[in-house]
Amino acid sequence: MKQLLTTDPEVYDLVKQEEKRQRDVLEMIPSENYTSGAVLETLGTVLNNKYSEGYPKKRYYQGNEVADAVETLAQERTKKLFGVPYVNVQPLSGSVMNLAVYFALLEPLKDKIMGLSLAFGGHLTHGQPQSATGKFFPSVLYTLGKDERIDFAALEELAMKEKPKIIVCGFTAYPRIIDFKRFAKIADKVGAYLMADISHIAGLVAGGVHPSPVDYAHIVTTTTHKTLRGPRGALIMVTQKGLNKNPDLGKLIDTAIIPGLQGGPHDNQTAAIAVALKEASTAKFKKYAQQIVLNAKKLAEELHKYDFKLISGGTDNHLLLVDLSNKQVNGAVAALALEAAGIVLNKNGVPFDKKPPFYPSGIRFGTPAITTRGLKERDMVKIARWMNAAIEEVKGFDFLTDDKAERKAMFDDYKKKIARNKQLKEIAKEVRDFCRKFPIPV
Ligand SMILES: *Cc1c(COP(=O)(O)O)cnc(C)c1O
Repeated sequence: MKQLLTTDPEVYDLVKQEEKRQRDVLEMIPSENYTSGAVLETLGTVLNNKYSEGYPKKRYYQGNEVADAVETLAQERTKKLFGVPYVNVQPLSGSVMNLAVYFALLEPLKDKIMGLSLAFGGHLTHGQPQSATGKFFPSVLYTLGKDERIDFAALEELAMKEKPKIIVCGFTAYPRIIDFKRFAKIADKVGAYLMADISHIAGLVAGGVHPSPVDYAHIVTTTTHKTLRGPRGALIMVTQKGLNKNPDLGKLIDTAIIPGLQGGPHDNQTAAIAVALKEASTAKFKKYAQQIVLNAKKLAEELHKYDFKLISGGTDNHLLLVDLSNKQVNGAVAALALEAAGIVLNKNGVPFDKKPPFYPSGIRFGTPAITTRGLKERDMVKIARWMNAAIEEVKGFDFLTDDKAERKAMFDDYKKKIARNKQLKEIAKEVRDFCRKFPIPV
């Protein structure tokens, strides 16, 4: 980065600081990953400079021969990897991707979206009222059963009553295998489209360690930057089942992206997606996907030994959700303490959470990024030990009041105590020394 150093040492320094942070901690936010050096290089190429509004061979500007080849390559690789007949590779992020599907299929203020409530592990863009998806379209949100899993009987009853035009499955905080076949049965029964948003698990699907929704859903959406390990970006796939239901689905989605929601695609991003798709179709990636799950299962097993309460009792995928109520600490305080110990994850609500979203009962974490660095089952034993030691330092740091101002004051006090805590600093040092054995791609 010699040119950046000369032009703007301030930004150069910030990039270097972030590189150091990513190297020295255990990155356990389950939606994050370390993309490859090849992907990073592609993002920084001259493809960034081009305008390519439109689609291959149907562009509004000249000079798009290479852009056409890039986009076609990304399309072909997606079709092959996921086994779908049609894809749009242009959505700039996951949120636009889902909004585009709704605009393609639903009439605003009339047709209903049915998605899992955010408080139970759904995504904002699955019809939450705070999101554009819930403002433009009426939505009905389902929850989980008492066993913290999808309750298909309740789901069917709700779908029959509400008659949504689209049912969304695929989640952000659900540690179990998704039974796409059962979702499809319900969607087919009420005549709804089934959209599987596999943003979190696309890498697991590509690697063959999670069932694919392609035979069951009409539309499959995914971001490219989570377990799939590509650049930020997104894909909207139409399955054969989708085309059978509506032969115009592909065209409707293309039109919803441009002119509907976006202008020019980011060609450097599209090229980097193509690179990531090539990487994801290798035997090496299959092993990576398998290891993600092995690591998550091992971590769950080790955390059980320290009396951590795992939502649904464990995990089948890359993600763990823990209810910390029995540790007398809330997720916000725990996430801060863990960060001080070099373990980066996020606070999260748990099913039927009684605590407020800003200070929820749980934490959410996963193994995609640490597995990219080469960590194996034996390393999960260490991580569980560090996590437990860090949480022990903040046991009892919870709120016994509902008063907002008092809560804020207590939180600030806990923050100071965490910043001063010597044990947490000691763990962070151990974590840093450990992490340096596992280089990150830059
Ligand atoms: C991450 C995610 C999205 C949104 O992706 P952004 O790129 O952050 O907009 C959508 N759906 C699900 C299920 C996700 O996990």
